[in-house]
Amino acid sequence: MKIRDLFKTGAKVFSFEFFPPKTEEGVAALSQTIEDLRTLRPSFVSVTYGAGGSTRDRTIDLVDRIKNRLGIEAMAHLTCVGAGREEIVQVLDRLKTAGIENILALRGDPPNGRGPFIPPAGGFAHASDLIAFIRPRYDFCLGGAAYPEGHLESKSLEEDLAYTKRKVEAGAEFLITQMFFDNRFYFDFVARARAAGIAVPILPGIMPVTNLDQIKRFTELCGAKIPASLLERLEKVREDPEAVRQIGVEHAAAQCRDLLAGGAPGIHFYTLNRSTATRRILQRLRQ
Ligand SMILES: Cc1cc2nc3c(=O)[nH]c(=O)nc-3n(C[C@H](O)[C@H](O)[C@H](O)COP(=O)(O)OP(=O)(O)OC[C@H]3O[C@@H](n4cnc5c(N)ncnc54)[C@H](O)[C@@H]3O)c2cc1C
Repeated sequence: MKIRDLFKTGAKVFSFEFFPPKTEEGVAALSQTIEDLRTLRPSFVSVTYGAGGSTRDRTIDLVDRIKNRLGIEAMAHLTCVGAGREEIVQVLDRLKTAGIENILALRGDPPNGRGPFIPPAGGFAHASDLIAFIRPRYDFCLGGAAYPEGHLESKSLEEDLAYTKRKVEAGAEFLITQMFFDNRFYFDFVARARAAGIAVPILPGIMPVTNLDQIKRFTELCGAKIPASLLERLEKVREDPEAVRQIGVEHAAAQCRDLLAGGAPGIHFYTLNRSTATRRILQRLRQ
């Protein structure tokens, strides 16, 4: 099923994001996570595309498995990194053959996350270019990324929004946001997007804090800000992993409740291939 049609049903869309594991143990652990989470009836799950296209085969194998063996709607992420048009076409053809209907089309990050993004020879410089390439050639439902706090490389929120609009004009039918911990960023972004004429569903991405050092690393890399009050509560219990998780789940559940009440079309959970936090949050939401 195409994700645009999931949004059209009017029901809230809950999706889970996974990354392709590197080892056999990782694959086994992820299979268990997906098994645990399938009882929560996700609307779809998505599989990331590793930096530099390093997980190309594993991403394709995993979305294929999730969709065709587990019977859960699946979306493949795809980036412009390290691939010219011919390689991109090969990936798109394989996804099509596997019956995958949804792609999150991204630019990706420069190697090591540093320096300017240099487009690969014969490839694409921006997500909007990738989307514009796929749109007339394939029947995939395409999504794009959005940044409520602005993308790290953008000079201003206005510039970032203008480029986000370009993705939609090129053919993105929905947007998924980067993680944020203060809902005001999301609601402000949606208001600015609507005012700029972006009409597609904007699915908020939520990452429950389960480990303080890890979330600090992630937010440094992507530019999302952790509110001072939340950080202070987490710092106080940093030696107690269960207490950190408890605060992380409470905060994310409160965020989700407020987002859904404020009109968000659903929630995209960054699961980090673990089920416990997402399960606890969804159970709270459905109580
Ligand atoms: C939901 C989500 C999922 C993600 N999944 C993955 C994944 O699986 N694998 C992975 O490697 N990364 C992933 N990322 C990270 C993403 O690849 C990075 O954030 C990357 O730096 C930007 O990708 P983009 O698609 O937003 O790029 P773009 O939309 O191309 O934007 C990148 C930057 O360029 C600017 N820009 C855009 N168009 C133009 C233009 N025409 N001219 C000048 N400047 C322009 C933008 O304002 C922005 O600053 C994900 C991000 C999100 C939010």
